[in-house]
Amino acid sequence: MTVPITEKELAAAAGWPIVHAARKLRDTGKVLRVSYDPPLLKGAVRMGSRTYGAGLRLGSELENLCSCFDSWSEGKVCVHSVAAALVLIHEAGPKGPDCGSTVLTVTVPPSSL
Ligand SMILES: [Zn+2]
Repeated sequence: MTVPITEKELAAAAGWPIVHAARKLRDTGKVLRVSYDPPLLKGAVRMGSRTYGAGLRLGSELENLCSCFDSWSEGKVCVHSVAAALVLIHEAGPKGPDCGSTVLTVTVPPSSL
């Protein structure tokens, strides 16, 4: 199975703080289930006392379909959908040594202006 999105693209859409929070949800088993039926990615993510129906439409433009406030009020790509996507990416990706505890460094190209 190939998921047509990368962690980098998620970060570009949602921001790195969301990706970090989403990793924490994934790593603590808060992503209850996830499925991918192109182009729709769906998941159930537990946060606090609620379970959110997360979802993303993967296409040229990322569309967030989550049931949470951030998603429907501001149209943001939220932590729930990113967490579900991370699980899928992880499952689909090559099974290399897990370097999840490595501190991430983001390199900004000097000539981005
Ligand atoms: Zn959400």
